Amino acid sequence: MLDLDNPMTRHRFRAAALDGMILERAKLMTIASTEGRYILLQDCQMRLERMRQLNDEHFKASPFVSAAIHELETAIQTLAGSDVCESSAAQAEAMGICPVCGTELTRIKTYLSIFCSPCLETVSSARRKLESGEGFGTWAI
Ligand SMILES: [Zn+2]
Repeated sequence: MLDLDNPMTRHRFRAAALDGMILERAKLMTIASTEGRYILLQDCQMRLERMRQLNDEHFKASPFVSAAIHELETAIQTLAGSDVCESSAAQAEAMGICPVCGTELTRIKTYLSIFCSPCLETVSSARRKLESGEGFGTWAI
């Protein structure tokens, strides 16, 4: 249960917001070209840096959180490292097929969201660690 009177709650909300922004960029990355992935990676690294500051300033520089942030950064870099030319990215999105693994893309019409679920799995393990009670504890939000 989320305790709104707990002084840590606002820091957990901040962590959840950063995680959400990184997740949105990771989704976009799964269907982007190499250049697009690089731009998204820069953006993610800025937010990962803010996560590190949050950990240092409000989570007693937790080694568990620090390791999970590092794992998330490595996963994002893996996602960003796929070689996809502009025309392949455009063609893949038009056909609804992942330009990297060839899986049918997931479309969530309500959010106008389109991404590759298997490729997105790359960031799941690290995100689950950050959400856990040992991590930022954002699972309760
Ligand atoms: Zn894929």
